[in-house]
Amino acid sequence: MMFEAVIGLEIHAQLQTATKIFCGCSTAFGAPPNTNVCPVCLGFPGALPVLNRAAVDHAIRAGLALGCRINETSIFARKNYFHPDLPKGYQISQYEQPLASEGVLEYVAGGIAKRVRITRVHMEEDAGKSLHEGFPDSDRKTYVDYNRSSVPLIEIVTEPDLRSAVDAAEFFGRLRAILVWLGVNDGNMEEGSLRCDANVSIRPVGTEALGTKAEVKNLNSFRFLQKALEFEIERQIEVLTAGGRIQQETRLWDADSGVTVSMRSKEQAHDYRYFPEPDLPPVLVSEARTNDIRSAMPELPDARRRRFVDGYGLPEYDAGQLTQTRATADFFEETVKDGASPKGASNWMMGELARALNAGHRDLAQSPVTSERLAGLVALIENGTISGAIAKGVFEKMFASGRAADDIVKSDGLTQIDDASQIQDAIAAVLEANADAIAQYRAGKASTFGFLVGQVMKATAGKANPKRVNEMLKKALDA
Ligand SMILES: [Zn+2]
Repeated sequence: MMFEAVIGLEIHAQLQTATKIFCGCSTAFGAPPNTNVCPVCLGFPGALPVLNRAAVDHAIRAGLALGCRINETSIFARKNYFHPDLPKGYQISQYEQPLASEGVLEYVAGGIAKRVRITRVHMEEDAGKSLHEGFPDSDRKTYVDYNRSSVPLIEIVTEPDLRSAVDAAEFFGRLRAILVWLGVNDGNMEEGSLRCDANVSIRPVGTEALGTKAEVKNLNSFRFLQKALEFEIERQIEVLTAGGRIQQETRLWDADSGVTVSMRSKEQAHDYRYFPEPDLPPVLVSEARTNDIRSAMPELPDARRRRFVDGYGLPEYDAGQLTQTRATADFFEETVKDGASPKGASNWMMGELARALNAGHRDLAQSPVTSERLAGLVALIENGTISGAIAKGVFEKMFASGRAADDIVKSDGLTQIDDASQIQDAIAAVLEANADAIAQYRAGKASTFGFLVGQVMKATAGKANPKRVNEMLKKALDA
């Protein structure tokens, strides 16, 4: 029997606010343990939470980007459970009435149109962090760092619309790109600002009914998500094929051994005894506020990619690369605005500029070659002042010094030689010195032509216009 996988994701994303969701403590990552804390986020009795407006704005942005309806009223609830990193004994989270619902994310992957429905986007606070390692007495004690307690999160829940491990990883990547693009999340999965759980079940191909699902937790990289799902799908197929039954349970991905392991079964599942948080009023979001946020949102990656293809005539590949981040897309458009042709700007950004930045572990914001300077270089190539070969050397000097291209070309005397008599002289000298090569060429060995072009370019220190050299050399040889 052929099976297909049915996958839905639950993604936790930390909102990029300066302060926590219900108090004024800093959200900065990496501060010494328990320095960004106060009575509210430590859960002292009687301390009252106050909702951070900036966190709500970010959550609305995420909801809108995912095509959701922003609900005018949403409610915070208490999710009750005991854990040392949860000092109040409950987590404040939206439950029955989330901030945003019923969205959809559409995109094209590998030439295939994909559509993933978004069930909901709700707000909640993060818990603290238990530290099981790194202390002299870690074999006997666990330490708790409450800096992360009450950091603002959104949880994004999808419908079970994904059909393979690769699909799920691709979707997670798209979602991350959008959240980072919006400035809602920093995309840093190593620091835990973006985390993913997956619900997965299998069913015979052609059937509609959902199978029993397992939840796989703590998939904090695209690779882990894909590997864990591949393992879990295969595991479930083996169980069913052997006549067994899938247990509804929570499983953990063990990256070291490459397997998922059972954490708890449905019988052991928590009853969180949710009830509305009495210390917080309902969250009211007026239509006007939603509209203001919507109108101030940047153009999203997919829309921008389409515009780069339709408006600038870029190939799909270029448009995809240049819209990986907002900074890249902005830099490209600035370069074109400053006078470069779109394809010229794209080639240099994806080629020499990307290489030089990577080699120096720098990002675009730190590029010594600004968009204006890059446009200057592309213009010199496109108007024939310098050849492409010379341009690479000019670019290296620009990158090392921050100087302008025309400045370097002038001071180094790199202007392309277009003058026919100068090129003719060089050709004559090369032909005189290479009688053998000429004989081979005339005997039909076409590759010799390239060698002769190379000799002429060498004789002019790479400055001769290669197109003219080609034409004139051909003429001289055929004479
Ligand atoms: Zn606090």
